[in-house]
Amino acid sequence: MTQKEQKEKKLEDIKKEAEQKNCPVQRSLYFIEEFLAGPMCGKCFPCSFGSYEARIRFKRLLTGTATDEDVKSIKRIASNMIEASMCKKGKDTAKFILDNIDLKDLTEHLSGVCSGNDCLAYFKYIIIPEKCNTCGICLGVCKDNAITGEKKKTYLSGYHPFEIAQKRCTKCGECIKVCPTGAIVVVNATVKEPVGV
Ligand code: SF4
Ligand code: SF4
Ligand code: SF4
Repeated sequence: MTQKEQKEKKLEDIKKEAEQKNCPVQRSLYFIEEFLAGPMCGKCFPCSFGSYEARIRFKRLLTGTATDEDVKSIKRIASNMIEASMCKKGKDTAKFILDNIDLKDLTEHLSGVCSGNDCLAYFKYIIIPEKCNTCGICLGVCKDNAITGEKKKTYLSGYHPFEIAQKRCTKCGECIKVCPTGAIVVVNATVKEPVGV
């Protein structure tokens, strides 16, 4: 999309695209980012400043660093935008934000949960050692080299169990699709990882 096309994008289209997103945090952030990149003209302060401020706070929700204060601020910002924005575009953006802000699955982010596992910061993939048959198939599909491990050798008592290095994992989900034993699972990011054999 060219810059001109982005600028002329209709709020209705942004709304339709945003509504395709399952998670209310991602829905709201998408709406704001598209609004800022497109129809937001910057002519009035409550709308322009409010949108930028709301974006900062939604990004915190996305990355698991938000607090109650961020949610309160978003509400304050959006209410102010509704009241003081010069045109309908600013007011409609604020309405969209307010329609999503009190949803349970949005506020759950404050306690470290993204119920749809849509926000990467809130979940991780792990390998359950007891279910892993050490076939190594997952290792072959991980383009990020996040999986390490070795096949069990009958003549050796110990081996390096299959594990996912969280710092390298980009959460693409390819490994879970190929694991024949269901040993790879998605868990909340705060869950302690099982200790290998
Ligand atoms: S409310 Fe309307 S006039 Fe004001 S910055 Fe937003 S888009 Fe521009
Ligand atoms: S989710 Fe993707 S990056 Fe992470 S371990 Fe699996 S294949 Fe590798
Ligand atoms: S594909 Fe599954 S069973 Fe095979 S090594 Fe990976 S985690 Fe273990």
